[in-house]
Amino acid sequence: TRTSIKSVNPYNNEVLREFPAMTDEEADRAVDQAHQRFQEWRWRPAGERAEVVRRAADLMQQRRDELARTVTLEMGKLIEESYGEVDLVVDILRYYGEQGPELLADEPIAVDEGTAVVANRPLGVLLGIMPWNYPLYQVARFAAPNLVAGNTILLKHASNCPQSALALEQLFRDAGAPPGAYTNLFVRGSKVGRIIDNPLVQGVSLTGSDRAGASAAERAGRNIDKTVLELGGSDPFIVLDGKDFDRTIDAAVVGRLGNMGQSCVSAKRMIVLSDIYYEFVDRLRQRFEALTPGDPLDPATTLGPLSSEGAAENLVSQIRDTVAQGATLVTGGRRIDRPGAFVEPTILTDVRPGMRAYHEELFGPAAVVYQVANDDEAVSLANDNPYGLGGVVMCRDLDRAGRVAERLDTGMVWINHPTSSRPELPFGGIKCSGYGRELSHLGIKEFVNRKLIRTY
Ligand code: NDP
Repeated sequence: TRTSIKSVNPYNNEVLREFPAMTDEEADRAVDQAHQRFQEWRWRPAGERAEVVRRAADLMQQRRDELARTVTLEMGKLIEESYGEVDLVVDILRYYGEQGPELLADEPIAVDEGTAVVANRPLGVLLGIMPWNYPLYQVARFAAPNLVAGNTILLKHASNCPQSALALEQLFRDAGAPPGAYTNLFVRGSKVGRIIDNPLVQGVSLTGSDRAGASAAERAGRNIDKTVLELGGSDPFIVLDGKDFDRTIDAAVVGRLGNMGQSCVSAKRMIVLSDIYYEFVDRLRQRFEALTPGDPLDPATTLGPLSSEGAAENLVSQIRDTVAQGATLVTGGRRIDRPGAFVEPTILTDVRPGMRAYHEELFGPAAVVYQVANDDEAVSLANDNPYGLGGVVMCRDLDRAGRVAERLDTGMVWINHPTSSRPELPFGGIKCSGYGRELSHLGIKEFVNRKLIRTY
């Protein structure tokens, strides 16, 4: 019997659509088809492949309303943020559609005799395993550069966003991607190993939890497949001075509550110098308490649901356990008394090593605020974490901010701005946050054969 993949609106737990999961035979056929297509797609001029991606950008712009609505219905994101996601994806598709071939240009190396060139050639069929938090963006940043590079894509999306998954497959098809160039796979995470074992699959890119990442990379390792992992984060948001305090509070609120806190680069650990600590906590509390829950499709709503009932329950249990371990609950901490996956915006303080919130990623609207005496303590605390994805430093003195940024063990640091993503900027982390980079001139070369051609 087939399991099904359900689209559930987390605002009211209504089942919107249900799709049968693929059988093993269907999945195998999809891999074969992607491989057959690769034999043709790889030899097309890069400009021709880029044209497909560029057309996908135009189509996405045309389908802006419909796609934003699908994302909001399926994972609960505030509608304005869903529009923001669609717009960023249009930029990503357009960027690789226009710049991709040049980013992949041959790289000559100076040699004594004759010539040496590194040609960036595709690897083959790639498997993308993507999460639900940015259902369109996560896929686009993997698929767009890789389609231009000449790889073909199998996309296993999170099981709670099948409608977004189908909308993306349709988008690429309508943009002119031939059958097998981009294929949606309706399979559950637990069944992905079989697909990685298929010798026709040459690489795996996963964005999601470190648990899922380790499992997929272990399987890929057995098959000698290249992997890129973009996993969780517990980013520090370091406040060194009280200058521009309004701007700092705005950045903290956006950084922690954007996407209802469900982002790998959310500002999960706020680290604040003592002289401004109490004012910071108080102003953050006022902002958190001012939010009003409602339908995320309604533009007036400022507090939406989390992506699922399970996500909401998990967050509340992390908070409850941390408080039981001795932390202080400044505000929030409970489910909101209404249907849907709502959790109160939460602030925890006095969190210490050994407590759950000190070590674990809080994937929802819950901030931990730490008090430190000086910049050295801020850096030590920031680095005392299994993750190393992004980080923010807020400080008017840019030299001082730069010195702190330099000492953070993370893949990215933003100074005086919440973390963000742009098509031309590399995105990725170190430590348990994964390895490799997505986007930019670096991301487009993760799954290419850097082929040396030496001529005498
Ligand atoms: P998962 O990591 O479980 O899901 C992400 C993707 O990986 C989904 O497509 C999922 O498929 C797939 N997957 C799950 N298990 C495996 C496996 N063993 N092998 C291969 N693929 C697998 O995230 P959850 O949705 O369960 O969220 C749990 C936590 O992960 C969050 O609380 C957060 O901490 C972190 N997370 C981080 C994200 C980020 O952006 N870095 C995004 C999402 C989550 P399926 O849905 O079918 O299980």
